[in-house]
Amino acid sequence: MVLNELGNKINNVLQSLSKEPVIDKRVLDAMLKDISAALLSSDVNVKLVLKLRENIKKTVDLDKLAAGINKNKIIQNAVFDELCKLVDPGVEVWQPKKKKQNVIMTVGLQGSGKTTSCTKLASYFHRRGWKTALVCADTFRAGAFDQLKQNAAKAHIPYYGSYEESDPVQIATEGVAKFKEKNFEIIIVDTSGRHKQESQLFDEMKQIYDNVNPDNVIFVLDGTIGQAAELQAQAFKESIDVGSIILTKMDGHAKGGGAISAVAATKSPILFIGTGEHIHDLEKFSSRSFISKMLGMGDLSGLVETVQTLQLEDSQDLMKNISQGVFTLKDMRDQFEMINKMGPLNKIAGMLPGIPPEVLQGLGEEDGKNHMKQFMCIFDSMNEQELYSDGKIFEKEPTRIVRVARGSGTNKLMVESMLSKHKAFGQIVKKMGGNKGLLKGLSPDL
Ligand code: GDP
Repeated sequence: MVLNELGNKINNVLQSLSKEPVIDKRVLDAMLKDISAALLSSDVNVKLVLKLRENIKKTVDLDKLAAGINKNKIIQNAVFDELCKLVDPGVEVWQPKKKKQNVIMTVGLQGSGKTTSCTKLASYFHRRGWKTALVCADTFRAGAFDQLKQNAAKAHIPYYGSYEESDPVQIATEGVAKFKEKNFEIIIVDTSGRHKQESQLFDEMKQIYDNVNPDNVIFVLDGTIGQAAELQAQAFKESIDVGSIILTKMDGHAKGGGAISAVAATKSPILFIGTGEHIHDLEKFSSRSFISKMLGMGDLSGLVETVQTLQLEDSQDLMKNISQGVFTLKDMRDQFEMINKMGPLNKIAGMLPGIPPEVLQGLGEEDGKNHMKQFMCIFDSMNEQELYSDGKIFEKEPTRIVRVARGSGTNKLMVESMLSKHKAFGQIVKKMGGNKGLLKGLSPDL
């Protein structure tokens, strides 16, 4: 993920705090210096870094903290909150309204991932039951309409565009009118990009804006372009009423601090992040989840959102258990079922706090699917007492392992391997359960 390196650096700084026998002004200053250096080397704007530093200093007033209070925790929380503020301008996030025709217009430079994001966005809403359509008004890039058409068809989303008409304003206006007439609830308009921000692009954008009167303008920004992101974002913000942002290519290894600074410059909230080239690689943005993930603390609310979307019957039980630090074999079975539906395991792993990669070894992509099918057979060969247990029952009575292996058509080694993975997951869940900070943002009924 973009910003992984930054996350690791900040994490190391925070970890080293716990090794300090006394946390005094000198230690705090040294820590702030290291965090600032990490942010600056990731391209975060210097003014933002200074502000973050000042804010942490204000929050952590060592002289006023009572003796015996956990200073380490207070500093960690302050750093976490300030990092969240960096990616959250504190503006209300736009939401489409039901029983209304919501028009979304996307803008951005060529190559930023605009067309890809339009189809991802359409598919996101379509999967959630919104009547969604796409309009391709990108007449500048040859192939943009074909690209949108192919992806829209794959995702079963109606689209509008033209090979003959070269006026993007006319296409956008006609497309939106056509879908409004048919009562579409979400109409997404893909507009042209250029290689750089130039007046022709902005004039065209404004004309489309005036004609389709969008409810939200989404600025699509390549998250990997470094410091150039800020200037680009400012130029767009000055030309058009940017309502929100999609940061793309966040699956790469770029520094990403430029994108953060760009968000701060526009004061527009990030709506989604693009995390791959596939149509499902779009994640709803939440600052706490994002920073949590960046710091390697997992993203429970992201997991919850995905689980809720899938509407798995038992997902509430699973999340309730996880939030209480309990993890039965049945919970693991439910997780595997979810993973099967959610897609690549490496993505899911990022949402689970601190999952060591070795726990998931052998469970990647195709290989993993077969592996997982065998695991499901193992679960299905357990009785209720075993399935709803923490797995210790197998340690106490190993003959159960033999029985389950036979019943599932696998072998003893396979069952033992699954049980040891469950044990490792269980230990992580136990740790998470006690950490209320991590659980902020979970659904209120948990
Ligand atoms: P446009 O010119 O802005 O419409 O850009 P495209 O949608 O054609 O995207 C440009 C390139 O970026 C394509 O190769 C996309 O597959 C790729 N791309 C878009 N979004 C992402 C993303 O989130 N992650 C990755 N890795 N690639 C992306």
